[in-house]
Amino acid sequence: MTARLLDGKALAQSIRTRLKEEVARFVQQTSVQPGLAVILAGENPASQVYVRNKSKACVEAGMNSFQHVLPAAVTQEELFALVDRLNADPRVHGILVQLPVPPQINALAVQERVLPAKDVDGFHPLNVGYLSMGLEGLVPCTPLGVMEILKDAQVPILGQQAVIVGRSNIVGKPLAQLLLREHATVTLCHSRTRDLPAVCRSADILIAATGQKKMIRGSWVKPGAAVIDVGISFEEENGKIKQVGDVDTGEVMEVAGCLSPSPGGPGPMTIAMLLCNTLRAARRQVGG
Ligand code: NDP
Repeated sequence: MTARLLDGKALAQSIRTRLKEEVARFVQQTSVQPGLAVILAGENPASQVYVRNKSKACVEAGMNSFQHVLPAAVTQEELFALVDRLNADPRVHGILVQLPVPPQINALAVQERVLPAKDVDGFHPLNVGYLSMGLEGLVPCTPLGVMEILKDAQVPILGQQAVIVGRSNIVGKPLAQLLLREHATVTLCHSRTRDLPAVCRSADILIAATGQKKMIRGSWVKPGAAVIDVGISFEEENGKIKQVGDVDTGEVMEVAGCLSPSPGGPGPMTIAMLLCNTLRAARRQVGG
């Protein structure tokens, strides 16, 4: 068997094209242009690339993009003051603080400072609480992207066994809530899970989000299962650095029913979902 490829890049592109039209309609109806503010503290090269990509995507979608680059030595108070200004700015509907923040900054305190209505990353404890209670709030982008991939591929979720490997606050836990909301039976695994291969083999839907290169082997996958690889790692091959995921793509392609690989799977969906969250936040703040 060769798995059907679930192409996150193509899906993200089609969502962004549709979103651009939705943004144009929203602007026409309300005379308000949705705006996303991104805060970058420090000079982490990977973060600089992420922030640039997010800003570019915003502009392409017809939204305002506000970039705030702060020195690595920024204090907690200076960061709070900026967040307060953005919270009060009617042109800004979404605020994102790029992680990681410098060591002197308490990331949770900054996330808590962002108004929940503008928290397009879905990391504010109030939004986390809403998600776990099944209430409306803003939901983290990567898990939302995974759900979109599953839905677009018409993978059945209701009553299915879903296994997530990785229990972080930004991927594993919110994804468990979203799958539970769609009536999957969810198992959340981590580094202390006993006999992980056997647990993975029980999955109709298997999602890997660990950052451990190619750890999910073909023999860990139930024949016909849907597999989604969220992991992003890098390795050197023939002197070149290339991106790899948590899934051994070659082996798993032979067993799974469908596979959304890394690269080319959930990664590109994250920015698309950030744009969707920004429009959603603008709608809730402005109406329309
Ligand atoms: P974290 O490091 O916060 O969490 C990793 C999780 O994986 C932990 O729960 C950890 O268990 C678990 N884990 C690690 N090793 C093993 C193992 N050998 N067996 C079982 N479980 C294990 O990572 P994130 O959730 O932030 O990210 C996970 C991956 O997803 C990374 O590769 C990251 O780059 C990628 N990512 C991709 C995004 C995108 O596509 N845009 C966005 C966010 C992340 P424990 O809790 O016990 O330590």
